[in-house]
Amino acid sequence: MRLLEERIQKEGKALSESVLKVDSFINHQVDPEFMEMLGKDFAEHFKDFGITKVFTIESSGIAPAMMVAKYLHVPMVILKKQTSKILNGNVYQTRITSFTKGTSYELTLFSDYISPDDRILLIDDFLANGEAATGASRLVEQSGAKLAGIGILIEKSFQNGRKRLEDAGYYVYSQARVSRLDAGVIEFLPEDEPTVAAQSE
Ligand code: 5GP
Repeated sequence: MRLLEERIQKEGKALSESVLKVDSFINHQVDPEFMEMLGKDFAEHFKDFGITKVFTIESSGIAPAMMVAKYLHVPMVILKKQTSKILNGNVYQTRITSFTKGTSYELTLFSDYISPDDRILLIDDFLANGEAATGASRLVEQSGAKLAGIGILIEKSFQNGRKRLEDAGYYVYSQARVSRLDAGVIEFLPEDEPTVAAQSE
């Protein structure tokens, strides 16, 4: 999506070959009108997927996910990051290890907010190695519901998250696909290109 790519190019900072900082409009300060525009784009993209709920992972996915849910006219559910396991039968939990931060947490969903006939759209800010999205898919499957689609603002296509999710049978739509990062350099894949990882196979 050209407007997102332009904004990343203008305000994003490549901290290394693998980490992109977009604190001025997504991760720290949030631009609500821009989030609304991204939310509308996701809602348009997924309008025929029969989505019944939008899921996101706290905290940076909440702003765009809220807008998607508004335009799809469905509830939004925030998957919580707990530091330790909750020992009661009313939650689904799965452990996620974050390679970027070197931490792990229990992704947690209260069972009241999902049912087996739900069709879930997962929205997240970044897709890197697919740890968070794969964990969310485990929670959805534990409940018997279907993960009908995954919407990502910024996919780092040189990492293997998309391949991992597609190999597991999930549909992924990313609004911006970064092909390379380096000090002062941010490059994008042309729209509709296969991933860098897939190209090198
Ligand atoms: P994954 O689980 O796909 O390996 O990583 C995705 C999660 O890690 C995202 O939810 C995001 O919070 C964080 N993340 C991964 N790469 C980046 C990055 O380059 N910049 C920022 N700001 N967050 C990232």
